[in-house]
Amino acid sequence: MNRRFRNFFALLWSRPDPVLAQAAVAGELLVAKVRLGLATLLLLIPLLDSLFFPVEPKEAIVGLSLTGTTFLVALIVYFVISREYNPSWFSFASTSFDVTLVSSALALFLFMNEPHTAVNSKVVFEGYFLVIGATSLRYDKRVCISTGLLAFGQYFAIVYFASTHWDLNSPKFAPYPYGMFGWSNQVARLIIMLTASALSLALVSRSQKLLQLATRDPLTGLFSRGYVDDRFAVELSRARRYGTVLTIAVIDADRFKSLNDTHGHQAGDLALRRIGELLSDSFRQSDTAGRYGGEEFVVILPETDIAAAQQKLECLRESVANAPIALATHGEQVQVTISAGLASFPRDGEDAAELFALADERMFQAKREGRNRVVAGGEVVLSTADSR
Ligand code: GH3
Ligand code: MG
Ligand code: MG
Repeated sequence: MNRRFRNFFALLWSRPDPVLAQAAVAGELLVAKVRLGLATLLLLIPLLDSLFFPVEPKEAIVGLSLTGTTFLVALIVYFVISREYNPSWFSFASTSFDVTLVSSALALFLFMNEPHTAVNSKVVFEGYFLVIGATSLRYDKRVCISTGLLAFGQYFAIVYFASTHWDLNSPKFAPYPYGMFGWSNQVARLIIMLTASALSLALVSRSQKLLQLATRDPLTGLFSRGYVDDRFAVELSRARRYGTVLTIAVIDADRFKSLNDTHGHQAGDLALRRIGELLSDSFRQSDTAGRYGGEEFVVILPETDIAAAQQKLECLRESVANAPIALATHGEQVQVTISAGLASFPRDGEDAAELFALADERMFQAKREGRNRVVAGGEVVLSTADSR
């Protein structure tokens, strides 16, 4: 039971898939634009107000400083994001800022001695829902959870403060243009707020599941070609930005046609599944192992140089060569081997297509040199086992 709970929380508090995280950058940029547009409007309202209507200097100063700060922050955030600066903590910071902004606007009414506007606000309070709804554009469950809890906590603190510092239903506030104060209303608001966060969370979780369904190869359970391509582009741009290395491996099963011809297509499928299992077991979670087509596989190894990748591929090659595949018929066993080619960023090239073509070419070199081997360019690791 305990483990189940731990797994549940680990799943809830998990990092987003890198391809979804890339989509989240576009979401963050959209939110930054909307925020900047709203902040400009909010800045204009008190400016025009103070020009045309007499306002209390205290109120004007407070209003202008809050909207002015919001505008400045919105402008800075927009420029930062449009220059593709988006570390993983950024979404947490930007949604926390938005929640705090709504709460500050409500707290401002408390400061101006208008507690009813703060606790029964018809417009500002809805701002929380805009922020909570927009968390789903970040495709990160952790952001949905933290934003919902932060909004809940801050709004509860405002209402609690108002209810303990003012006698809100005292006749001196009559005729209560914003309505009388009631805890039942406030509890309903808090529950609706948590429900909105739960809906955002469900949407993100659904997107993650759909992505998983759409990106897996049904035979081996490995990633499919389209996903591997997307992920390669994401990892490559990350390696470029942070100045790290990355290696791509193209793997092809040896003499697979003859295995199919001799033992049948089902035996071939069994062998492909077995290679898939060994591939999944051989690499880290941050690596991407995919079936690229027929009996061809690709692995993307971020932050791995060519020597380390070569070692890993050698281990995989050995484990495939040493894992006999038992067929259903007469206890027969077949053996399959793989050949692999590697290419590394930035050593071998800068561009995805260029690196892929080079790894593919080296895989064919491994075939020409006798199969069951890994070619990394430069020196070739000699395999002890011969080709079949
Ligand atoms: P090489 O060592 O040069 O790679 O020889 P090969 O026979 O593996 O190469 P070739 O490209 O000629 O053959 C690939 C074979 O893989 C052809 C096809 O029958 C088989 N194949 C492709 N996809 C599947 C699949 O999903 N299941 C099965 N059982 N076989 C497949
Ligand atoms: Mg082959
Ligand atoms: Mg092939």
